[in-house]
Amino acid sequence: MPLIIVTGLPTSGKSTRAKQLHDYFAERIASTATTASSTSTPKYRLHLISDQTQGIQRAVYDLSPAELPAHVRSANASEKDARAALYGAVKRVLSPRDIVILDGLNYIKGWRYQLFCEAKNMRTPSAVLQIGCSVDRARGVNEARLEKRREAASDATVNEKNVPGAENNNDNDDDDTEEPYAPANWDNLVFRYEEPNPMTRWDSPLFTLIWEDDEAQARDVFAKIWDVVAGEARKVVRPNQ
Ligand code: ADP
Repeated sequence: MPLIIVTGLPTSGKSTRAKQLHDYFAERIASTATTASSTSTPKYRLHLISDQTQGIQRAVYDLSPAELPAHVRSANASEKDARAALYGAVKRVLSPRDIVILDGLNYIKGWRYQLFCEAKNMRTPSAVLQIGCSVDRARGVNEARLEKRREAASDATVNEKNVPGAENNNDNDDDDTEEPYAPANWDNLVFRYEEPNPMTRWDSPLFTLIWEDDEAQARDVFAKIWDVVAGEARKVVRPNQ
């Protein structure tokens, strides 16, 4: 299971890049299979694991007491459960034939270390892809999502009241349907973010893409990641190193 850990600030474009990386790897896997033989099974299987695929809500990251319902056990128990679910999902597909892209905040260095050790135990490489984005731009994305949700809620209220023509009220036609973070949750996640450090074993090799990087630059970085996890530069991993 070569493992690629995607990390970055909330709403910085992680899922967008993770999907692009997934598409790029799918292309590479398909072309390798075709080159080898028209009937051969692909050398790798590909998995994209994220909060969305595991049904994890944004609110699990919320440590602000005012936002927590009375029945929630403790401030970050739900986040620990979420991490356990992600860890389980990654572990379930562990095998040297399975490439796993873990799209998420992955903001705690101890968590990235744990994932690195898991890959190492499986004698398979890991890499980190950091999504670089200014705090202001990332905040803007979350605010736009919050605004969209407010509009949708007010449209729903108008519709409930059966205002004539209200069903056409929503003129927002972009296809971004992701849930926003509550503002305090978002701020807190930015505050808690532990930047990857390429000097540490568990954050290396470290690759970076920034918001402004175009398709050609993205493909260039994806090709380098491919090389490390599945290509020429793939190293033999020994658990005791
Ligand atoms: P995250 O996974 O970090 O929450 P998303 O990938 O969902 O962020 O991106 C948030 C929004 O920003 C989406 O609407 C997406 O289309 C847009 N977006 C992300 N990356 C870029 C980029 N590099 N250029 C332009 N828009 C982007």
